[in-house]
Amino acid sequence: MYPPSGQDKNQAAGPLVPIPKCPYVKARFSPNNYGPIVSVTVGKAEMQFHIHRGLLTYYSSYFKATLSQNWKEGKENAIKLPDDNPEAFKVFFHWVDTGCLYGALGPNGKIPLGYQLICETYVFADARIIPQLCNACIDALWQTICQEWTFPTPQLQYIYDNTTSQSNLRKFIVYDAAKTFKWENLDSDRQKYPQDFLADVILKLYGTKSAPGGMGRGAFSKETRLCEFHDHTHPTKELQHRQSVQKPSTTQEVTGSRL
Ligand SMILES: [Zn+2]
Repeated sequence: MYPPSGQDKNQAAGPLVPIPKCPYVKARFSPNNYGPIVSVTVGKAEMQFHIHRGLLTYYSSYFKATLSQNWKEGKENAIKLPDDNPEAFKVFFHWVDTGCLYGALGPNGKIPLGYQLICETYVFADARIIPQLCNACIDALWQTICQEWTFPTPQLQYIYDNTTSQSNLRKFIVYDAAKTFKWENLDSDRQKYPQDFLADVILKLYGTKSAPGGMGRGAFSKETRLCEFHDHTHPTKELQHRQSVQKPSTTQEVTGSRL
């Protein structure tokens, strides 16, 4: 059954679906290699974080390169990220410390991140080349969708403005839309859907020769293969050139509905 609109933050959450273990996940960081503390200043408000150099360089090719002794940041153990999102960095900070994106569930049993912050954390992880954090965000997005059974329509523009055509986040959201969304209000809500997103959904449906919206909540929870949307490359293997993307213009907090 549809949730009425997905806008009621206090509505009862569905059960928390456990995340299947990814067989390609990298071993957790060894506590023998923490190294010195690095000061990381994030965002326009210059929020300060202090984090071990070993943790930053183990999970992120970007930080590994930036903290090399050839760079000022590496010599001073200080990094400035003025254009990054402090809230996303907080999630990263929690993840490197605990292996999870969040601590306790909310009082209503919901995952306490929300679609927007999960997507923003994915974009941060993609820009800073932290593939395991990208994977954790895909998992959390799937887990939240399974729990709330709503579609993150307001995040579509953000996703398409901040990712490339090869993004696993795009692939996942297109898969979700093609499999589960009913498009009952497509005509009146057409301005909510980025053109590239609609084209991707049509191509996905055409490629799989399937009708839209045939998959229910139970099947989505059981049949989704999350590894299809994971990046299993080693985070320090290569420092790839990433296409710069436009920053989002809005961070609307409204949730779309579906069956
Ligand atoms: Zn995987």
